[in-house]
Amino acid sequence: MSEIAAEPAGKGLVFAVDLGGTHLRIGLVDDAGKIHTLLKRHTPKDDSPLVLVEALANAADEWRRADYGPIIAASVMVPGAVDSGQAVVLSAPNLPSLINFGLKAVLQERLGLPVVLENDANAAAMGEMWLGAARGCRDVVSVTLGTGVGGGIVLGGRVWRGAHGAAGEIGHTTVDPFSGLKCKCGNTGCLELFASATAIVRMARESLAQFPQATLSSDDLTAEKVYDAGREGDELALTVFKRAGKYLGIGLASLMSVIDPEIIVINGGVVNGWDLFAPDMYQEISERAFQATAQQVKIARAECGDNAGLLGAARLAFDEME
Ligand SMILES: [Zn+2]
Repeated sequence: MSEIAAEPAGKGLVFAVDLGGTHLRIGLVDDAGKIHTLLKRHTPKDDSPLVLVEALANAADEWRRADYGPIIAASVMVPGAVDSGQAVVLSAPNLPSLINFGLKAVLQERLGLPVVLENDANAAAMGEMWLGAARGCRDVVSVTLGTGVGGGIVLGGRVWRGAHGAAGEIGHTTVDPFSGLKCKCGNTGCLELFASATAIVRMARESLAQFPQATLSSDDLTAEKVYDAGREGDELALTVFKRAGKYLGIGLASLMSVIDPEIIVINGGVVNGWDLFAPDMYQEISERAFQATAQQVKIARAECGDNAGLLGAARLAFDEME
């Protein structure tokens, strides 16, 4: 794991950007994964993406004046899909102003640096491979259990984006086609509807009537509250996490059959409930995946925390420079 440090950089520094729907985190990262300075602020939500470009450019200008060392590239991870030329954001539900905007070209011009664009889940997978739970592995899948369920795939040490930039969408693989639950993607029964923080809250709310003894109430229900209740032994909460684990296991078993990765790294807020969902996840995997695969694929909690994407973005830029 990386830490804030102030040592001279070997191959220079990457201006790495974790562009989230809510928060914007920018850091200067060296080729050992040390973060020399880090800035966190709210993501500008202007109708024009140029407001965001200016915010990034101002940070870069300031850090150049502060002379942390030579900045050799910029790398931006975005919460959405990027086109196969890695130049244009194709979809970003939480940052609609970026859609179809040529972010790469505009940033290159404004920053005077080569720019790498990458989907956030792919960047997180790279970060975990470089400095986290997947160190030393080459075939890595990362699964993010957050507001939704995201996925990133690295094969042979390189991000696998697919022919149309849409690979890794494990959250939108079907795990229960007859559930009647519609996903925002248009499909029915997506993994995201069972294993995301949003799903934890929905499933808890739906089950309240069946568990009159439950300590939870429908007011201000959050995944964290369900988790806290589960740790205290609340039956409703335990049932919800078991259900999430089952569906996650079903999704991961299919993923193993197709990709056969060395490791699946799980991150995102729901991972805090690992002890509550993991037994059912492992159970489903052992029943569904090929035995040899199920026994060998490692499933691990992420280790880079909030920095996975930022570090992965930096690694991608260093790879590109080479
Ligand atoms: Zn879906």
